[in-house]
Amino acid sequence: MVALVVVMALLVGCGDSDSGGSGSESGYDDAGADAYVAEAQQSDGSESEGETTAGSGEDQSDEGIEADPQEAALPAEDVPPAPELVSAYVTRVIDGDTIEVSLPDGSVEKVRLIGVDTPESVHPDKSRNVPYGDIASAFTKDHLSGKTVGLEFDVQERDKYGRLLAYVYLGDIMFNELLVSEGHASVSTYPPNVKYVERFTAGQLAARNAGLGQWGYTPPEESAPDESAGGEYIGSARSYKFHYTDCVWGQKITSNNAVYFASRDEAIAAGFAPCKVCNP
Ligand SMILES: [Zn+2]
Repeated sequence: MVALVVVMALLVGCGDSDSGGSGSESGYDDAGADAYVAEAQQSDGSESEGETTAGSGEDQSDEGIEADPQEAALPAEDVPPAPELVSAYVTRVIDGDTIEVSLPDGSVEKVRLIGVDTPESVHPDKSRNVPYGDIASAFTKDHLSGKTVGLEFDVQERDKYGRLLAYVYLGDIMFNELLVSEGHASVSTYPPNVKYVERFTAGQLAARNAGLGQWGYTPPEESAPDESAGGEYIGSARSYKFHYTDCVWGQKITSNNAVYFASRDEAIAAGFAPCKVCNP
């Protein structure tokens, strides 16, 4: 418990000191995550002392711990205090981690779910959209479209795009956490909005270990290359070897490097050499 409080205090401290010179959104994110892991490991071994102070000032860090009696009183993650929620009606699901809601005062707002990131599905740069993005988006649509939800805010109310930042509750279920624990989203934290980062990280670990959602997903074209291109032979544009499409080595060729041939002659004419395992 003491270690946890120290970690949280240091985490907040790190976020503050890093935020000054942060450039890109993602760079900031990575720095925060690394700092979090590093501090967590460090404070496992060392109890208190001045050792756990990160950089700036020992006094400041100690004050941070003392001034947070509420955090210290938290017994464990499974008995959270009831969050203060703002009721909202989901008018539209934009993608897996972004929704549009109408609030009690009649205003309509875009809401970005805090702490999670689903694969892109509606990005203007289409090269960033991946097949799993549509699956994650459908999951959010199924669960949230037309529903009344509760919004809980963290330290910052809005992101740089003006979207509200919130934890979205469907009854007792926090949907942000559900996305991660079902494998539809990755943990993506932006200090100082890190209230539930430990729950998210645990959920992601369990989902990955169980191969849930995106962690067990293989895009269709990679699992069945012979069907997508219709050729009987597959070659690698990197190695200039070709195989029967059911050869295990042929199946390892990524879709970027795959070249298909209707006949053996066609492959050899194109300068490809037959695989010595499947002997096409
Ligand atoms: Zn082969």
